[in-house]
Amino acid sequence: MRELEEKIAREGKVLPGNVLKVGSFLNQQIDTAFTMRMGEEVKRLFEGREITKVLTVEASGIAFAFAVSVSLGVPMVFAKKHASANVSGDLYTASVYSYTHKTSYEIVVSKDYISSEDKLLLVDDFLANGNALKGMIEIANQAGAEVVGCSSAIEKGYQGGGDELRARGYKVESLAIVESMENGLVFRTQK
Ligand code: 5GP
Repeated sequence: MRELEEKIAREGKVLPGNVLKVGSFLNQQIDTAFTMRMGEEVKRLFEGREITKVLTVEASGIAFAFAVSVSLGVPMVFAKKHASANVSGDLYTASVYSYTHKTSYEIVVSKDYISSEDKLLLVDDFLANGNALKGMIEIANQAGAEVVGCSSAIEKGYQGGGDELRARGYKVESLAIVESMENGLVFRTQK
């Protein structure tokens, strides 16, 4: 998505440890109108596929996933990062290794919100090594739900997570794919 690439180039900051900071429009301050356009683009990329719910992980995936779910006209569910008092009853759980925090955490979803009837689109703000998406795939598998595909706003292609999931047969659509950040941002050409 050209508009997203331009925004990353203009507003993104490359931090030590290969972290791309886009707090000005996606991760802290949210450009809401632009985020809704990203949601429409994801709808276009998954045209013709039946999707019953969008699944993401709190907190940074929620704004993008919300926009995607509005454009698709289906509910959005977010996995919580720790079992807490307001997630009760039977849970699906998966362990996710965080690239940004260098530690593992549990993601949990109440069994009330995903079932074997669901056809899920798994969504996140960033796709790097693919661990967050793999955790969501694990939760979909526990529920017996179908994974229709995965979508991220920004994929860091050189970390390989997206291509690994594509090789495993998943439809993975990212709105911008950064191929390198070392000497200025380079994006992968997409159709
Ligand atoms: P993965 O699990 O694919 O390795 O990483 C995806 C998760 O890590 C996303 O949920 C995102 O929050 C975080 N993440 C990974 N790389 C970056 C990055 O360069 N910038 C930001 N802001 N978040 C990242």
